[in-house]
Amino acid sequence: MTEPRVEAMHHPAGAVLLVFALSPCCGPGQIMQNLCRGLVALALLVAMPTAIGADAVTAPAGPPTLKLPTGARPLGYAVTLTVAPGDAKVPGEIAIDVELDWPHEVMWLNADALDVTRAATELADTRASVLRGNEQFIGIAFEPPLPAGRHRVTLAFEAEQSRNSTRGIFALQDDGAWYAMTQFEAISARRAFPCFDEPGYKTPWQLTLRVPRGLVALSNTRVLSETLGDDGLTTVRFAETRPLPSYLVAFAVGPWAFVDLGSVGSVPTRIVVPRGRAADTQFVAHAYPELFVRLETWFGISYPFDKLDHVAIPLTVAFAMENAGLITYGEAGFLAKRDAETPRYRRIAANIGAHEIAHQWFGNLVTTAWWDDIWLNEAFATWIAEKIVNQWRPDYDRGAARVSERAVAIDADALTSARQIREPVNSRSDIFNAFDRITYQKGATVIGMFEGWMGEEPFRRGVRRYLEARRDGSATAEDFLAALTQASRLPVATAFNTFLNQNGVPQVEVQLQCRADRATLGLTQHRLELLGVRSAKAQQWQIPVCARYGSGALSRQACTLMTEATGTIPLEGGCPSFVFANAGGRGYYLPDYRGGLLSQLASHRNTLTAPEYASLLHDLRALARAGSVSSAQVLHWARLGATSHDRHVVLAAVDLAEFAGNTMVAEADRPQFARFVREVFGPQARALGFTPRAGDSDDAQLLRRSLLGFVAPEDPQLAAQARRLARAWIGDRKTIDPGLVEVVLVTAGRTGDAAMFDAFLAEAKATQDHLDRRYLMMALFAFVDPALAQKGMALLLDPAFDVRESWTALRFGFDWNPTRRATNDFIMANFDALAKTVSSVAPGDWPRYASGLCDEQDRATLAAFWKDRVQTYVGAERQLAQAQESIGLCTRLRSAAGRTGIKN
Ligand SMILES: [Zn+2]
Repeated sequence: MTEPRVEAMHHPAGAVLLVFALSPCCGPGQIMQNLCRGLVALALLVAMPTAIGADAVTAPAGPPTLKLPTGARPLGYAVTLTVAPGDAKVPGEIAIDVELDWPHEVMWLNADALDVTRAATELADTRASVLRGNEQFIGIAFEPPLPAGRHRVTLAFEAEQSRNSTRGIFALQDDGAWYAMTQFEAISARRAFPCFDEPGYKTPWQLTLRVPRGLVALSNTRVLSETLGDDGLTTVRFAETRPLPSYLVAFAVGPWAFVDLGSVGSVPTRIVVPRGRAADTQFVAHAYPELFVRLETWFGISYPFDKLDHVAIPLTVAFAMENAGLITYGEAGFLAKRDAETPRYRRIAANIGAHEIAHQWFGNLVTTAWWDDIWLNEAFATWIAEKIVNQWRPDYDRGAARVSERAVAIDADALTSARQIREPVNSRSDIFNAFDRITYQKGATVIGMFEGWMGEEPFRRGVRRYLEARRDGSATAEDFLAALTQASRLPVATAFNTFLNQNGVPQVEVQLQCRADRATLGLTQHRLELLGVRSAKAQQWQIPVCARYGSGALSRQACTLMTEATGTIPLEGGCPSFVFANAGGRGYYLPDYRGGLLSQLASHRNTLTAPEYASLLHDLRALARAGSVSSAQVLHWARLGATSHDRHVVLAAVDLAEFAGNTMVAEADRPQFARFVREVFGPQARALGFTPRAGDSDDAQLLRRSLLGFVAPEDPQLAAQARRLARAWIGDRKTIDPGLVEVVLVTAGRTGDAAMFDAFLAEAKATQDHLDRRYLMMALFAFVDPALAQKGMALLLDPAFDVRESWTALRFGFDWNPTRRATNDFIMANFDALAKTVSSVAPGDWPRYASGLCDEQDRATLAAFWKDRVQTYVGAERQLAQAQESIGLCTRLRSAAGRTGIKN
């Protein structure tokens, strides 16, 4: 899954970043296999013995709280749903083939917000009835008890079709037409039908959808038959799937249009869009086959499903889900009008596509057995997406995206309240919290580090071995690591586990010792400790450390696996004039340079690669959060980075400066900070300007967007220009380059007055264009004036706007110092009404929005507000702990920096 946890215009120091989540498909011969499997299952059902040994009857215990009890498992499902998009309800029937290990008085199933009206079994003399369980479970009671063995349990029910969430079955309106779609990961299949809703249960599924005549119904597999009934409904029967967990089942119903890509490899592939949008698929229609073929080659296993549809959800959020054979994408990262195919859009769309396609093998063909290993799916897909996009288009980011992911992970992981990559999952909150920056970004970085250590080929062999051994089944991290260990004959599992099963960032002190002509690097590791925090226990990792060092233009590399608290790396060629202790910026550890090594790096910074230089700037931020780098040093390095010729380095410098502005600058020093921004980043921002030039490179366009987004709100001249452009844009969309609309409107909002607000509001209500409306919402949430800010945020409760879109635009309020507190205050003041309206984003996630605050009073207010709510809302407890820890850290950093003041 790729989901927009946070998306920022540039990566702020508070570390908010777009996180994507995603998932797989089938090859020749698969349909026959599935058919055979279905026939075998049917034959077994018919001939089923009634008991297999055990005769103790299960006691009708109360409903489970998290996991389904053992003793009953699904063998296959047949589901029939009547889906009229936009209707409130979806009536359905499900037949579950189950196997019982012992006789059952009650069999528990997952069900959430379902009205189950009827239950039956294949045994004429057994009475089945439905027991109300709790929010997540129902019981099917059998009288007499259902004997051990195989049975068919049939249930009739009604599910909801949600208009304000993207969970379970949800409905969307686009250009006057309704569409119904699904999103089941992690635990929302139970909102569509009663089932064994856990990833470890993989079975074939046979879906049948009854839909209004004229609509198109899609699911994971090919259509077997379509029949029009007297009732005006078309019955669409789909081929049985390969074994799938419930969370990968999906369907989509509506007046869909198709862009048929024919066979890609040997797989029938289509882009599926809301009607009228076929022209907006040019990029993905070109890119996705390229990525698909490269992934299939990398895995060395034929695509496992019988077709692949890429489906656009008409909602302008960057989100995607890897449903087997039916990948769904929020339109923001998927569709683009021909003239709005910006460099940024192309990079996001390629990355999301590669991530979701990769899941078809890694996640779908082989699924992790429980949510504690979901990191393996997500970290792997995040990691390989970058690798494959780089293989296809090396010019897209040149390996630098990895470096920002690493930085995002380090920011999150430094907190004592951070999750481990492999964190035990003992509650629904744990499932909810598992889709975070530790799972995606830290997991991907650690995988990349070990791939570097093992070598690309041994790593790939290990992955293939893992997939081959577990195909159509489920697996754990142990299985994965064992395969890597076998393939490489290196102690991968032992070392990898030190990153998997403990939180925290290893900080490695680096010292250069030169005696006569012998040079050695001395290394000492410990956990990175944030300012004012002392770790309760000593922690140690097994770290693949790689250093690059040299004199002049000549450089060498030396590596070691650091298995103890201290270590050494012998260097060749005499005493080097520089040492960079994280070659390529790939390692998940934080070099802490001692002696004069950091200032040597400053003079040799141009011998570093862009990923290395950018990672150094990010690392200085981490060290500043630990209190070991001063605000003066931070600003010094931001100034150095700003003059780099590489976009990635300049953006890392922006991140560093923004971090300083957010956390190290007292309110009273804001004007000084604004001057610093104008002086250091202003010249380049103004030189790039709001008006693109013919022949601008992608780098120039991307840099323009990020630099102007950062500088313009601090620069009265640029801000005035943005407001002029925004006013003109309302009358004529061609006034602003498509890549800059967001930046211009948000800057105009951040610096605008009531007249600007009213103009934006009127346009947001008038426009029919989703993307324009979303940009306008972002701007409406960005006004600093408290009355306007309130009026803007009140739109979240206005039924005229789809809250699923407008909610994601709210981030512009909490991303920026001057509006952060007001945004959080609004959420707290309107909590109940918002919690009812905004069900797409669980309230348990909301404490996170406050994590950029920087005041002891704010921390106390937040704690008091959540005190009685934290247990009610799934996931809230950890989110609150992390927000409170972040606010506390920021408060300490600001007061420490305040003593020295901001000096430019
Ligand atoms: Zn994913």
